[in-house]
Amino acid sequence: TAFNTLPLRTELLDNLASLEYLKMTPIQAESLPLLLQDRDLIAQAKTGSGKTAAFGLGLLQKLQVENFHIQSLVLCPTRELADQVANEIRRLARGLHNVKVLTLCGGQPFGPQAQSLKQGAHILVGTPGRIDDHLRKENLRLDKINLLVLDEADRMLDMGFQDTLDAIVEQLPKTRQTLLFSATFPEKIASLAARYLNKPERVTV
Ligand code: AMP
Repeated sequence: TAFNTLPLRTELLDNLASLEYLKMTPIQAESLPLLLQDRDLIAQAKTGSGKTAAFGLGLLQKLQVENFHIQSLVLCPTRELADQVANEIRRLARGLHNVKVLTLCGGQPFGPQAQSLKQGAHILVGTPGRIDDHLRKENLRLDKINLLVLDEADRMLDMGFQDTLDAIVEQLPKTRQTLLFSATFPEKIASLAARYLNKPERVTV
């Protein structure tokens, strides 16, 4: 299926054409229509499936560029993944002007991150530990987030991020859209989904 069958902004559709994203991958075709209807989503998908563009297009469609505050939060298990996700979102956002994507990951110096937070961003991508650190230091507020993405949620739980995730989600508005991506679905993912998501649709590819 072609992307232009979806109610996406012209700027996003034009940019997809220039990136030569011609057809949707299965995870995109299954999840984007639901995501664009503001549904919560549990998606079983691996790296390489095009999952980043699935949630990236959803969050860019929802973004209000003129409101310069953090509107979407993407949590990833590792810095490598966070960098990859941030870069893919930046590519997808090329048609929209001045979209600011900020990454915050552990193993990086704190000061420059605090400085970047002062300058502001629309989209925040990062690892749970460091985002929680900035929340505790009050460098960061997440009270205007309307979309939360948990990417590779099973790996985040395997790495012991359960309590950190709880602490972050506690700071988010209750009224928001939440998308959970995971390669596997052990019981602890089901229980996480039951706590964080609201009447989710489930998509498997
Ligand atoms: P991901 O699974 O998100 O890591 O994406 C895997 C790769 O597929 C990335 O390099 C994307 O740039 C690319 N990609 C994602 N969606 C599409 C699409 N619809 N058509 C062509 N390439 C895509």
